[in-house]
Amino acid sequence: MKIERANAKINLYLDVVGRLENGYHEIVSLMQTVSLCDIVTVDYLPAEQTAILLNASGNDAMPTDRRNLAWRAAEKFLIASGRRGEVRITIEKHIPMAAGLAGGSSDAAAVLRALNALCGKPLTQDALCAIGATLGADIPFCIVGGGSMVTGIGETLEPTDPMPQCHLVVACMGEGVSTPWAYGKLDEQYGFFANAVQNDAPAREILALMKRDGVVSACPKFFNLFEEVVPKVQPYVDQLKSVMLQNKAVRAMMSGSGPSVFGVFETAADADLACTALRKFGATAFVCHPTKAYF
Ligand code: ATP
Repeated sequence: MKIERANAKINLYLDVVGRLENGYHEIVSLMQTVSLCDIVTVDYLPAEQTAILLNASGNDAMPTDRRNLAWRAAEKFLIASGRRGEVRITIEKHIPMAAGLAGGSSDAAAVLRALNALCGKPLTQDALCAIGATLGADIPFCIVGGGSMVTGIGETLEPTDPMPQCHLVVACMGEGVSTPWAYGKLDEQYGFFANAVQNDAPAREILALMKRDGVVSACPKFFNLFEEVVPKVQPYVDQLKSVMLQNKAVRAMMSGSGPSVFGVFETAADADLACTALRKFGATAFVCHPTKAYF
């Protein structure tokens, strides 16, 4: 049996820099795993017949059949490694769903890491990422974790120094946002990115500032293009950002395609107070911190 943390991710920088003919979008993003996580337990017993069983706790809305990304990750792993057998997966869900925190992707990544370990590491990290990429654009990053510059459609990872330790609060409230819907809105606004320019310089500036002067000095450069479209339909985004900023956040910004918001705080006490204020406001909120790569 293997127990894996499936950490949520936040985006310190997220720009869309192109759209491929098949509808996938090219991005430039700085992704970072944080300590908010699901707990994923995996058991594997070789057998003639394959059976994948998934149990969940913590969120009744999460599918437990093949609609679950973690279920499909197990199936893909068995096929790719030429194995058959019984896989039992248990997900203790803590990461808010459809919130831009890559919870489903992280669960799938945890299953791939766990099965590979349980089977004696038949697949390389690159092979696991290739399987993950067929299921979801964020999965390769979620397999590796820590900090990464992520480009292409999410499959090209350049591991970076992780975000320096700091105090974070992640919060969300209201309806989730569908990532395809949010990309569709950006397509409307940016003419399907026909004239987009691929530029990773602003993201590299954030990395350089964090390394030289720490997180706080890099905060003004954080960016998320989805803030152009999502807060218009999910007003809680701006409201949660305001609560964070009123409670001493150095920066508050939406993560991924939202609607979750993260704030950066200078002290643990500030982060705790902001988290309490957000919960009073009605939000689901967590204090967390950046985490290192899994490998
Ligand atoms: P991303 O930013 O990668 O789009 P997200 O954090 O916005 O991810 P998820 O929490 O991964 O969104 O879930 C989006 C949808 O995927 C959910 O509505 C759910 O029905 C489906 N889903 C499939 N597997 C999972 C899983 N293991 N955990 C959560 N949702 C899952």
